[in-house]
Amino acid sequence: MYHRVVPAGQLVQAGMYVSPATFVSHLIFLAKYFNVVPLNSLTVKNGLAGIAESGKPPCVLTFDDGWQDFYEYAYPLLVKYQQPATVFLPTEFIGTGKQFWTDCFADLLSRRQATIPGKLSAPDILTAVAYLDGLPGSFENQLEAGIEYLKKYPLNKIEKVLAGLSETWQVDLAGAGRNFLNWAEIAEMKDSGLVSFGSHTVNHQILTTLDNTAIKNELIDSRKELLQRKVVDSSCVSFCYPNGNHTKEIAAMVRSAGYHLAVTTKKGWNHADADKFTLKRIGIHEDMTSTPALFACRIAGLI
Ligand SMILES: [Zn+2]
Repeated sequence: MYHRVVPAGQLVQAGMYVSPATFVSHLIFLAKYFNVVPLNSLTVKNGLAGIAESGKPPCVLTFDDGWQDFYEYAYPLLVKYQQPATVFLPTEFIGTGKQFWTDCFADLLSRRQATIPGKLSAPDILTAVAYLDGLPGSFENQLEAGIEYLKKYPLNKIEKVLAGLSETWQVDLAGAGRNFLNWAEIAEMKDSGLVSFGSHTVNHQILTTLDNTAIKNELIDSRKELLQRKVVDSSCVSFCYPNGNHTKEIAAMVRSAGYHLAVTTKKGWNHADADKFTLKRIGIHEDMTSTPALFACRIAGLI
């Protein structure tokens, strides 16, 4: 499970990226010890068991969120090393300047100017803003802790808290250009035959914070758009739970919405008979995988 591929030094959460050089070392390592297969191999005849017979253990590369840097940095390397990968798209963000709230928060935090307390009226928003305003530690620690704190709220509340921070800190909630892929880049990569795509909902909201109707809309509408735009094939439509959060009931809803498999953020390998709607992954990021030895330890589950 990858998210972003960006050169070091950019304002990106540590758990969210690998550098292009590190990604190259991963591709070389994986080609040596694994059979890197497309995600839809998991739904064809015999599934993982059939692939495993080829010798090396099968491995699937996934990228969450459809970041524009996938096209810029990861895709050329996948072409060079001829390895397949799947990218999960939150359809509402594709081809727009819209940002994830986590990036809005990071942006606010980095440009914080002045604290002017007591201007906000809604008590619960005021409490959240006061908490976030007083987070201790470095920028990275404040960012991690702030995101963890905000994650439990539905998106409309998060947006109100961010507006409150913007007011308190006297910083505009400004957009920072396009963060995500556009449909032309997606079509080009799909045509290469190396990159496939799946749904990461419409709005990238944590499904366990939504009611059943809203969950169904996220599942059905994103699938419909990907099919209409011919980004996915109806024979294998995959799904990725935002932030990994799911329940048994939500997994059943994913199946009934017409998906063939779904990935979580639960760490680990999948056995041949694994439940296809709660597939495990191994989160790969720079700070834990920058050498082949560290990468091997991470894949083996040691770190
Ligand atoms: Zn995501």
